[in-house]
Amino acid sequence: MTLKTIGIVGAGQMGAGIAQVAACSGFSVVLCDLDQAAIDRGLSSIGNSLRRLVEKNKLTSEEAEDVVSRITTGTGINRMGQCDIVIEAASENEAVKKQIFQSLDRQCSPETILATNTSSISVTRLAAETSRPDRVIGMHFMNPVPVMALVEVIRAMQTSDTVFDSVTALAEAFGKVPVDVTDAPGFVANRILLPMINEAVFCLHEGLASAEEIDTVMKLGMSHPMGPLALADLIGLDTCLSIMNVLYDGFKDPKYRPCVLLQQKVDAGYLGRKSGRGFHSYTNQTNSLSILTGRNHPFQRCSF
Ligand code: NAD
Repeated sequence: MTLKTIGIVGAGQMGAGIAQVAACSGFSVVLCDLDQAAIDRGLSSIGNSLRRLVEKNKLTSEEAEDVVSRITTGTGINRMGQCDIVIEAASENEAVKKQIFQSLDRQCSPETILATNTSSISVTRLAAETSRPDRVIGMHFMNPVPVMALVEVIRAMQTSDTVFDSVTALAEAFGKVPVDVTDAPGFVANRILLPMINEAVFCLHEGLASAEEIDTVMKLGMSHPMGPLALADLIGLDTCLSIMNVLYDGFKDPKYRPCVLLQQKVDAGYLGRKSGRGFHSYTNQTNSLSILTGRNHPFQRCSF
């Protein structure tokens, strides 16, 4: 199946990043969110990212304008009917995602593939909300999307091989490296990454070292490009907490219990970069892309 028009639900840091990569790869994109303010923030982050690529001579101004012209927007999901595939990138909340999948199922042609960028939630359960479970799949991009090479392509129990092959080919057309992963809480990436971040939060909570020192240990000791607490701030502490809860509930294993400090940060509204404060403070907000590219990140190559 040839996929030409890509719908994206959610214009936050991931949805905007996916929109940019899809448009840079020549696809038509329809980007939607709950309201115009969220769409404007998404478009502004795409604009800033493209400007930096032009400054680095990775893109001409004309190419950047073409990329922007391939992205159309709308509030609500009523414009998703025209898309060959819709990638859901809304907040990491199962009830929200189930409602979106039910609406997309009603709105879209029976042929449309419905993908989710969820970090951890069961793709099998989201597929079961639709009348086309064989056409539902996980497409888990990494943050920041224009920089990171990996896409976990997650088969729900119901996903057909044809849909899996189409989505794998789409990830490759986006210049990414797809990895075939079976549906389970947290998949592979976050099954490994989030317990490490959660353990770093425990180290902070127990007073073993400061946030800066914990991040320094992992950067200088393990050659991680970012410390785990700075990475948690980049991901969003609300998203980190949701993923830990999915692991905890999914495996019923106390080793996945979220640290109380992570819960308290979220309760206080300290969500990381997106709120200006998490484990670190961000008085002068810098876009996540510039942070990683400015630090010689191993995946800083851009394929466009
Ligand atoms: P975000 O908070 O930056 O953006 C979420 C967006 O979804 C917001 O703009 C919100 O208004 C919108 N939204 C919420 N409900 C909606 C609805 N019903 N319809 C349309 N839009 C809606 O979050 P994010 O970091 O972009 O994460 C989005 C998804 O991607 C989550 O499932 C998350 O787990 C996943 N993800 C995040 C990361 C990361 O590092 N942050 C990495 C990989 C995957």
